[in-house]
Amino acid sequence: MQEPNGRETAVGRQEVNPDFFDAAERSGSYEKGTNMLHEATEASIIAYEVLAQKKDAKSGSKIYHAADQQASPQVPIIRTAYDQFGNQLLRNDDSRAAWFQYHTLDFYGNVIMEPFHIEFK
Ligand SMILES: [Zn+2]
Repeated sequence: MQEPNGRETAVGRQEVNPDFFDAAERSGSYEKGTNMLHEATEASIIAYEVLAQKKDAKSGSKIYHAADQQASPQVPIIRTAYDQFGNQLLRNDDSRAAWFQYHTLDFYGNVIMEPFHIEFK
């Protein structure tokens, strides 16, 4: 993007679900807004690098991964797939997946057994 003064700018966009983040943060007793801050700092780092490297940054790209590491810390989110009979599947992209459970970790890295979110396919 070109500014009126002739300088280049990059616009970073990030889509978030605040209710989803809020549920994860409450589940793991993390500070409210932890993941929102991560996404905001990540988007700002990506925009900076896009400008510096003159490269576009797609989701999953090198710039994207580096920004994820450099951004403020995030609350871990674990997504697990289940089939229609309630059997846990090994892969989230398994075509038999009927619903997903979302868990986070406590301060010590242990999975909190109660899911903070359930999503049906
Ligand atoms: Zn990230």
